[in-house]
Amino acid sequence: MVSSKRTAPDAMSDIDLIVERLEMRGHRVTESRRRVLAGVLAQPAHFTIDDVVHAARQVGRATVFRTVKLLLDLNILCRILLDDGTLHYRLSTRGHHHHLVCRDCGRVEDFTRCDVPALVRQLARATDYEIEGHWLEVYGRCRACARRDGRARSGRAKNAARRSIGATAGAQRRRRTQAR
Ligand SMILES: [Zn+2]
Ligand SMILES: [Zn+2]
Ligand SMILES: [Zn+2]
Repeated sequence: MVSSKRTAPDAMSDIDLIVERLEMRGHRVTESRRRVLAGVLAQPAHFTIDDVVHAARQVGRATVFRTVKLLLDLNILCRILLDDGTLHYRLSTRGHHHHLVCRDCGRVEDFTRCDVPALVRQLARATDYEIEGHWLEVYGRCRACARRDGRARSGRAKNAARRSIGATAGAQRRRRTQAR
């Protein structure tokens, strides 16, 4: 559904960078984990666990899950809840951020401006909860999809105008439409 390709020139050095980050935090990078990392880096802009399970052959599902969880905890990956309810993952290069998700083409963009802490402080005061985090996704249509839709709409409007020109032609066209 999403075709935006990763632009990393060299997947191998990406793996080495991630391995370095894992090892720096005291995580051993086994051969299976390395395969999961390669599977993650082979994905398009965002992907599901199943995509990684598929890519990281000969690695058990549980290992894929655990490795992805670790990458999430270390902020190497982030999660995106798509509009259809599926959970996707993607490489994260930022700290705290949220996603703008296009419901038409599945494009995802990050935004780092977050006004939620003020709300969280109010909530904490009002409810006595110790609030530990929040998750926010914003859904809509990207510029390209909105434009495409706008063009389709104006195309329909032109057709309607043409129909009103000749009553006979219009009647024929309507009969054809009804016959469909
Ligand atoms: Zn993200
Ligand atoms: Zn779009
Ligand atoms: Zn936030």
